[in-house]
Amino acid sequence: RKKAVVIGAGIAGIASAIRLRAKGYDVDVYEANSYAGGKLSEFVIEGFRFDAGPSLFTMPQYVDELFLLAGKKPPAYFSYRKLDIVCRYFYEDGTRISAWADEDKFASEIENKTVDTAKAIKAFLKKSRNIYAITHHVFLERSLHKLGTYLRLPTLMSFLRMPAIDPFRTMNEANSSFFKDSKTVRFFNRYATYNGSDPYRAPATLNIIPHLEQHFGAWFPEGGMYSITKSLVKLAEDLGVKFHYNTLVQEIIVRDAQARGVLINGMVAEADIVISNMDVWFTYKKLLKDQLPPKRILKQERSSSALIFYWGIRHRFPELDLHNIFFSENYREEFKAIWQDGKIYEDPTVYVNISSKYNPDDAPPGCENWFVMINVPSNVGQDWDRLIAEARTNIIAKLSRNLKIDVEAVICTENILDPRSIESQTFSYCGSLYGSGSNNRFSAFLRHPNFTGKIKKLYFAGGSVHPGGGIPLALLSAKIAVNSIR
Ligand code: FAD
Repeated sequence: RKKAVVIGAGIAGIASAIRLRAKGYDVDVYEANSYAGGKLSEFVIEGFRFDAGPSLFTMPQYVDELFLLAGKKPPAYFSYRKLDIVCRYFYEDGTRISAWADEDKFASEIENKTVDTAKAIKAFLKKSRNIYAITHHVFLERSLHKLGTYLRLPTLMSFLRMPAIDPFRTMNEANSSFFKDSKTVRFFNRYATYNGSDPYRAPATLNIIPHLEQHFGAWFPEGGMYSITKSLVKLAEDLGVKFHYNTLVQEIIVRDAQARGVLINGMVAEADIVISNMDVWFTYKKLLKDQLPPKRILKQERSSSALIFYWGIRHRFPELDLHNIFFSENYREEFKAIWQDGKIYEDPTVYVNISSKYNPDDAPPGCENWFVMINVPSNVGQDWDRLIAEARTNIIAKLSRNLKIDVEAVICTENILDPRSIESQTFSYCGSLYGSGSNNRFSAFLRHPNFTGKIKKLYFAGGSVHPGGGIPLALLSAKIAVNSIR
């Protein structure tokens, strides 16, 4: 049997391994950490369990697809439930908006809480649906780097309908011309952060994202986000994939312009196919040192990063749900600080995720596990210790103001993740969450392909390559990479 090596057990690495196995390869996955999942991992501290990275689960069909591909029934490994309220939004003037999954309920909620109408919301979501209809089969599900993609009639039709995807305005321009209330504009601008972008620069094409959340729903995996990783590792192992933890790949062996295997602890593990799930920037800088890197691609601006406080909270907040957002009063200044000044704004938008709302075992009785995150710039050597200390004070003040309680007084444990640790734990260049950024209207074309024309038998899967970051797209990258194997 032919042999494949996957470098990294991030979600796209695991998905690649399952797909390779389904194609009949013997598969070895080498992972530098002692655990699988990369960013999609978990930890437990003093009775509190935390999902370390992703907290919002959308498009579960791409996970199910892997079980079905392997001839298994997904519920035997993995189940999830749909959220009725996707997220609760808090504004400083006391307005609270619940984003209902049900479109009618959501539209009336916005009508009741802002000056915008239910009709406007429905028209906006229709536009969002239209962007998805035009783009998904070209930009998300296929390689943009194969002639075959462009020769298909649906692709040609999509290109003819390009103006409808709104690539020439920024998200903020489109949203502020559509809605009257700055609260609604902020609400929809925030979707730019789903792939680490800036709504004041990113093309309005990213208004596709509300449709993905509204139409395909937001879900909670039973057991928490980490159960996505655990169930896929279990599936891969059941299929015969071998995982090697604490095993750093040092080099991809290339001979006669073809990948031949990888170097581990000075020993060569030969392979017919190599898939790198390592951030593509580090793949070239560390594993392919003798090869000419694709400079233009590697120079692309990185997506934003995150600062996360994992707080054990000895109090319960009935007004909070699984996902909660506390909006900044000056969204434009917040993004200017991140993208132009490389800093953290003094009144950041704060996201609080509480998995113990759905999974009570995640916190001791009477307590909640808070994952408190703000968007921050990627790491270019800022004085993070100072920025983190300032941000912590500002976040606690903001949450205390909105929740009318001294939040500091109810924190009983704390862990912190910042751009430096994101980079060192998962080899993500500059600690960016989603690889290269999407602020440029040509970003989709400037992401690294899932293969390289220069080195045969080498493929790339993960959030730093086409079609981009986030769990659904990382899973699609594995699909496109493995489908590209001749
Ligand atoms: P990664 O998770 O980056 O893993 C790569 C793996 O490769 C790591 O385990 C690393 O150790 C290993 N590796 C690298 N180099 C080597 C080597 N040389 N040898 C051996 N092993 C190596 N997405 C969502 O969909 N929803 C969210 O709510 C969301 N929120 C997020 C919040 C945070 C804080 C973060 C960090 C990310 C978030 N994301 C979210 C993004 C999502 O986590 C990522 O896009 C996705 O998990 C990326 O997966 P990946 O397969 O590219 O690999």
